[in-house]
Parts: sequence; structure tokens; C-alpha cells
Amino acid sequence: PDEIVVSELASRLKVNVTEVIKKLMMLGAMVGQNEVIDFDTASLVAEELGAKVEKEVIVTIEERLFEEEEDAEENLEERSPIVVVMGHVDHGKTSILDKIRNADVTSTEAGGITQHIGAYQVNVHGKNITFLDTPGHEAFTAMRSRGALATDIAILVVAADDGIMPQTVESINHAKAANVQIIVAINKMDKPTANPERVKQELTEYGLVPEEWGGDIVCCPVSALTGEGIDQMLDMVLLTADMLELKANPNRLAKGTVIESRLDKGRGPIATLLVQNGTLKSGDVLIAGTAVGRVRVMTNDKGLKVDEAGPCVPVEVAGLAEVPTAGDEFAAVANERLARELVEKRKHEQKEEQFKQYQKVTLDNLFDQM
Ligand code: GDP
Ligand code: MG
Repeated sequence: PDEIVVSELASRLKVNVTEVIKKLMMLGAMVGQNEVIDFDTASLVAEELGAKVEKEVIVTIEERLFEEEEDAEENLEERSPIVVVMGHVDHGKTSILDKIRNADVTSTEAGGITQHIGAYQVNVHGKNITFLDTPGHEAFTAMRSRGALATDIAILVVAADDGIMPQTVESINHAKAANVQIIVAINKMDKPTANPERVKQELTEYGLVPEEWGGDIVCCPVSALTGEGIDQMLDMVLLTADMLELKANPNRLAKGTVIESRLDKGRGPIATLLVQNGTLKSGDVLIAGTAVGRVRVMTNDKGLKVDEAGPCVPVEVAGLAEVPTAGDEFAAVANERLARELVEKRKHEQKEEQFKQYQKVTLDNLFDQM
């Protein structure tokens, strides 16, 4: 193309049209958003905004940084499932997660001390399962609203003596909306008042029909107190994972989701990252939301220092210049300079957005007073 409409250029560059008009003014061209400019001018503007022109095509800064190549089938390897535990308060989510974590012998074999970093991996019969143990609901909602849901399977915990409660229904809706496979853990089976049949009956009212009644929902009777049924439940998680044929390519730059983050007095910003594709390595340049930096120190869920984290491995990372937001996507990138440019651009956009909100609020206030 030898010319382009100003607004089209802005949308190609994923920037506000006023940004483009401002740059054009700096170049001495007074044009409106519906006017056309020639390609040479467009490329000057693009370069001002961190983009690049290749073979008469404008490549945005995001496209230059994150090459969204599909992984070729031969590069894909089996990966472990990522599991979240959901359900009504006091039905036993924390107890189940603790039971699973403490039953994992590899954590003590490795000589480490288990530490809570928001996610952990357990080994069951030689296969790994990754559990997210961030406060279920918030993490789930935050991730889903950012469209970066890092979950394959949801274990829905329902207390056998209490049945389906409001947050159980919420959990079902979240899991369904996110298209996540549900496995039901009917917990507190040790209680004399446990009534698993009633739980199953109630589940059908929400479209979850147990396998034994001809549906496709696996129900596992468990007790987090005695440990009864937990192993069988983990086997069902692995079986479900097999059917989902989960795969990832370990031989590429890492990307994934920020699970937790905090500011440590001594070590600076700390983020728990869950790698979903690729392998994260010490020294990698990392971008997460508006935070950028190099991976300085990586620690796994057993508190051990590691130099690499492959698909589904959660790690705590020090080295970012800022604290990222839980639920943000992260990616390792090859070009540090471009990463810093992109972060500047994102911060700028954030500020503009805040300013717009501010203007809106003051205008509203003005009208209120009239
Ligand atoms: P959460 O709010 O879903 O995380 O639930 P918790 O794991 O904190 O458990 C709530 C309460 O139920 C605690 O007092 C637990 O000790 C108790 N509890 C959890 N699982 C079981 C179980 O299998 N049997 C019995 N009897 N009590 C349980
Ligand atoms: Mg809890």
C-alpha cells in the first residue's frame, strides 16, 4: 500500500489516534484522523512509536517482541495438568490442598522445606500435577478477566454433610464459563451425617450428572481429615489430564501467568510465576504487565534454587523492577531494549487512561453541582 488512513494506522499500531496525530504534527503535518497519509510518513510515525516497517508492512512493537508462532506438533511434549480447588467456604479446600501437599514425598526427599508460593507441584506415580493454592475465587476471577486462565481442571469441593451452597454454584459457573473440566470432591465423608447421594442429586440440578448416573462428572468421596479417597482422587485427575492431551513446547522462550506478587524489603519485587509454555531461565529478560527486568534468582515450591523452570512449573522470581499484578501474563523476550520500550508505552497508556477517568469524574461532578 502506498497510503493509509490515519485512524487505520493508529489501530494497526495499537495506539490512540491522538498519539499518531501528535507525532504527525511534530513532523509538520496537520492531518485529521480520517485523512490519508503516504506510506513514508506512516513509517516515520510508526518508528517514533517503537514499531518497524518491513517490506511495506508495519510491524507493531508487540509483534516484534512476541512472535506468536504456533508450536509445530513435533516440538510439543506432554505437560502436567494445572488444577485449581474451588468450593464453598469451610467445605475443606485448604484442608485438601494441605493433605495433598504433605502426602508428596518428593518435597522431603529433595531436602527442601515446602514454602507457600501460591502454587505447587506434586508427584503422583511418576507424574506431576500442578496445584494453584491462591485464594481460589479471587485468583480465578482475576485471571479470567484478563483472559489468561491458567487452569485445566477444577476440583469442586462439596461437603457431604452440607451439600451445594451459594459459593458452590458460583464455582460451577466460573468453571463452566472458563470451559474447565470439573471433578467433584465430596469431602467430609468421615462425618456420620455425610450424605453423598444427596450431593449428587443436587449436582444434577446444575447440569453436573455423575458418571455412575450416566453423566460425565467424576465424583470422588474423600476425607481431608483421614486422607481417605485422596489418592483415588489424584488418580482421577491424572486420568482426566490424559484425556485432555495437554501439551507444551519446552524449547522456546517462556510465557505464563503471574500467580502472586509482593514487595520484599530485602529482595525487592518478588513474583510467583507459572510457566505455561516454554522454559524460563536465569538471566532471561522478563516482561509482566508494566514490569520488566531480568530473572535474577529463581526458587521452586520446595524452597530450592533453580536455574530453569519448564511448562507447569511454578517458581518465585526476583529481578523485576516493579511488582506485577496477579493475573498478569508474563513473557520472556529476546530484546531487552524493545521490552523497555513496550513497558514505557504501556505505562503511558495507563496514565492516559487514568487521566481520562479523572476528566470524566470531574465533568460528572460539575454536572452534579449544577
Ligand atoms: P475451606 O474454607 O474450604 O478452605 O475449608 P477448610 O479446609 O478451612 O476447612 C473448614 C473446616 O472443616 C476446618 O475446621 C476443617 O478442619 C474441617 N474439615 C475439612 N475437611 C474435613 C473432613 O474431611 N472431615 C472433617 N470432619 N472435617 C473437615
Ligand atoms: Mg481455605
